[in-house]
Amino acid sequence: MKYVGAHVSAAGGVENAPENARAIGARAFALFVKNQRQWFAKPLSPARIEAFKRKCSEYDYDMNFVLPHDSYLINLGSPDPEGLEKSRRSFLEEVKRCMQLGIKRINFHPGSHLKKISEAACLATISESLNLILSETQGVTLLIENTAGQGSNVGYRFELLARIIEGVEDKTRIGVCIDTCHAFAAGYDLVSAQGYAQTWRTFDEVVGRDYLKALHLNDSKKEMGSRVDRHASLGEGHMGWPAFRMIMNDPRMEDIPMILETPEPARWPEEIKALYALMENS
Ligand SMILES: [Zn+2]
Ligand SMILES: [Zn+2]
Repeated sequence: MKYVGAHVSAAGGVENAPENARAIGARAFALFVKNQRQWFAKPLSPARIEAFKRKCSEYDYDMNFVLPHDSYLINLGSPDPEGLEKSRRSFLEEVKRCMQLGIKRINFHPGSHLKKISEAACLATISESLNLILSETQGVTLLIENTAGQGSNVGYRFELLARIIEGVEDKTRIGVCIDTCHAFAAGYDLVSAQGYAQTWRTFDEVVGRDYLKALHLNDSKKEMGSRVDRHASLGEGHMGWPAFRMIMNDPRMEDIPMILETPEPARWPEEIKALYALMENS
């Protein structure tokens, strides 16, 4: 089964996210477990935790298809000791919030070297950050999101994702979330049939198929290989519907959350419907 959804608002409290997901016809959803522009938040109240869990079960959201996104401030590969320490504490807090909410995976942006350290040093720092966080938590799998390679962000090549994973001790709790816009902007062809097959073959060889645990579904305002991260509504970017038709008919994409982060939330209900309509055997 395919589980398509979107990154919905948790304004007013995390317990509002399941309702917002249901309203757009989502089978999966993403949210921020705290304000994405703040380092730390006050603890979740037991009433909030209870309300979130109750609504998820009431609306039939399996926790395997709830995929929080980390805060934009966090840089687990930061060259600055103070920024690194803060990032690790902030992400640890988010993973602990996931544990409280019964959420089983969270995706994060790998990090940036800020042109102050080498890419290799940055990747090693990220692995070390993950080891620390994994050793202090249980039951939540951390999904590295591929990037477009904009600025000094690392993780735009599959090889770099593999390198981070290599440095992680507990590989049972690490995975990858592929953002289609980022992959395309980084130079991976997901549009031609041949390119699509080649891209996933490369992923399987370099990272390993079992690590693919989520997708972000976004079209791209910029060309393939531009290394610029600008999401477009589906069908309105340089990728177009054929790319998403292949994804919706790809057995590899069964039973993982597939999350829209397209720029017009008002269009999510129609985008979700249009994606399911692309399936040939349903
Ligand atoms: Zn994304
Ligand atoms: Zn993006």
